[in-house]
Amino acid sequence: MNILVINCGSSSLKFQLINAGTEDVLAKGLCERIGIDGRLVYQPAGGEKEVTEAAMPGHKEAIQMVLDALKNPNTGVIKSLDEVGAVGHRVVHGGEKFASSVILTDEVVKGIEECSELAPLHNPANLIGITACKELMPSTPMVGVFDTAFHQTMPEEAYLYGLPYEYYEKYKVRRYGFHGTSHSYVSKRVAAFLGKDYENLKTIVCHLGNGSSLSAVKNGKCMDTSMGLTPLEGLVMGTRSGDIDPAIMEFIAKKENLDIAGVMNVLNKKSGVFGLSKDLSSDFRDLETAQEEGNTFAANARKVFVYRVAKYIGAYVAAMNGVDAIAFTAGVGENDHLVREEVCKYLGYLGITLDPEANKKRGQEIRISTPDSKVAVLIIPTNEELAIARETMALVQKEK
Ligand code: ADP
Repeated sequence: MNILVINCGSSSLKFQLINAGTEDVLAKGLCERIGIDGRLVYQPAGGEKEVTEAAMPGHKEAIQMVLDALKNPNTGVIKSLDEVGAVGHRVVHGGEKFASSVILTDEVVKGIEECSELAPLHNPANLIGITACKELMPSTPMVGVFDTAFHQTMPEEAYLYGLPYEYYEKYKVRRYGFHGTSHSYVSKRVAAFLGKDYENLKTIVCHLGNGSSLSAVKNGKCMDTSMGLTPLEGLVMGTRSGDIDPAIMEFIAKKENLDIAGVMNVLNKKSGVFGLSKDLSSDFRDLETAQEEGNTFAANARKVFVYRVAKYIGAYVAAMNGVDAIAFTAGVGENDHLVREEVCKYLGYLGITLDPEANKKRGQEIRISTPDSKVAVLIIPTNEELAIARETMALVQKEK
């Protein structure tokens, strides 16, 4: 069965068509500038990338273009839409309602709408994609896979904030965590790679990309993760501040004459390594080049980033009373050997020694700690689309 995986944002949409049996990607691409002008990038497996500029007034038109590209007699990979057995949708926030993936019934769609308050930028965009797909493929089963679901096993002491309890009762203000599909996929791959039982392993997953988060996974369950009610909490990220003293908000608002929206904009878009490097870049490649050229702000930005990662690893070793494996994943985690090396310099107390040759490798699952290290350090490339396709397939088969 082929599964169409859709990740729908407010003005863009990423897709992959995956053969669930072989797990091969048959075609992939993205629609950009939806509602502005419109651009489709489409690439069949083994083929050239095609770029088509065409009007995309809304998501329905964008998805229609994707389906037409998949069926195109020359470069398409299917003959008819009957060859799409199900659609898996990435949904950002499932609140406390959704602790696992679900078939998207009308009732579930209503439930996702109710969670929109918690992710006002993301859930409405995800819902637009779901509605458009349902209209274009009314008899194809649809599944929602939530970024928050994997973290729903966190215990109360990890998910409650030190705030009046009534805010949790009335408004569900608590820590949820994000990147759950990646943390779930990578932690399972760690167990498989090491030939260990997932249900009997303590793993820390470092998902370091533009947005970054860590998770502590003990015996197959997420015990803690660094993002919170929103993806702003935790690590220092590309442009997000991560943890700060909340009193800074009032202080900066007064000094810079900003309202709440203005301060939030600074914390989400102008902070992180971007802000620390004096607006040089949020991209670690740029920061490293600048550092080599003697830019001390870029160097400090990287140091602050690395230190925060190391500090969270220490916290999660404590939360799990030990750790068997630490995995690096996502854009920075998979590609940046300097960040991995610098993080591991803090971890000597865990009996970790880095293998410098292995650490230079990219694009494959590999152990980068020496064989005598007490904790295995690994690079595990994440694959959220494949994880969504697997979840979708499993649910659709269960329904049959
Ligand atoms: P997201 O999915 O959160 O947008 P990614 O996981 O794709 O982000 O990560 C993107 C980031 O990965 C880039 O901003 C850049 O900092 C980093 N990155 C990508 N390739 C490299 C590389 N070769 N070396 C260092 N950093 C890299």
